[in-house]
Amino acid sequence: MAETIAFIGLGNMGSGMAANLAKAGYAVRAFDLSVDALARAKGDGCAVAASAAEAVSDADAVVTMLPAGKHVEAVYNGDVFGAAKPGALFMDCSTIDVVTARKVVEAATTQGFAMVDAPVSGGVAAASGGTLTFMVGGTDEAFARAEPILACMGKAVIHAGSAGAGQAAKICNNMLLGISMIGTCEAFALAEKLGLDPQVFFDISSKASGQCWSMTSYCPVPGPVPTAPSNRDYEGGFAAALMLKDLKLAMEAAAAANAATPLGTQAEALYQTFSNLGGAAKDFSGIIKLLDGSWRA
Ligand code: NAD
Repeated sequence: MAETIAFIGLGNMGSGMAANLAKAGYAVRAFDLSVDALARAKGDGCAVAASAAEAVSDADAVVTMLPAGKHVEAVYNGDVFGAAKPGALFMDCSTIDVVTARKVVEAATTQGFAMVDAPVSGGVAAASGGTLTFMVGGTDEAFARAEPILACMGKAVIHAGSAGAGQAAKICNNMLLGISMIGTCEAFALAEKLGLDPQVFFDISSKASGQCWSMTSYCPVPGPVPTAPSNRDYEGGFAAALMLKDLKLAMEAAAAANAATPLGTQAEALYQTFSNLGGAAKDFSGIIKLLDGSWRA
């Protein structure tokens, strides 16, 4: 067992994840640019470091949970590579572009470290509840070292392939989610205009061939799935801004791979419009209000 883990990036997701590592018995050395985030980490049983370099200096493993590729590159190139113990294991759980993920893993490997990209599925509640799903890219050896640590923060840890494969799986999954949510919203909006009761349409479609996760676990109309954000005026959950971020990453990767993604392109455009009209902070299922014409910022 790696005994000391540095955790960098204690935001909405990272704070709960670091707390779960501490709960599992690891000595967690936490760092974030935000003083409030550090205070919360201290309350959750983590030791607080004054810099990223200090956090990683005596750590067997490093977990990062940062906003985007530029932050990940800056933290690893600027602090982690120069200060980490030889042979330390790095796990970047942020959602970032595939190209940057591969570049950082390659730089780590060249300098004698082991590294995986390990983005997550599941939101803030899954991060604090320890029920995330990790999609991991990296060598078999790096995965074997990462798995028991990631397992303390999630319900599933899946080896997706070589470096960058975790990020590839994440953006393909979220592209599908964005498209299926828009499809589900369109169907409910049309059903209502055709005079169908939303609950009745749900009862039928959830048992017919239109059934999908966006409908049965996260229904965009209030009522049929009581835990869904649609019952809380689309507050909490997975912000439309984050869905837009992931769709942009997917479209960037599709362009680089010369892959045709017409529905992904359309989904990105619709989430961009929803965000421009003030929906960025709402749960992504709130896009139903854009589609049925009832959206007011
Ligand atoms: P967040 O903005 O709440 O947290 C990011 C944290 O990183 C902040 O506390 C910030 O201060 C810190 N940070 C930024 N630069 C830093 C640096 N140089 N050194 C130290 N700390 C630094 O974001 P989040 O919602 O926790 O998301 C983190 C990642 O997880 C993102 O890549 C996001 O796409 C992904 N993700 C988020 C969710 C979600 O529901 N929020 C779900 C799945 C994946």
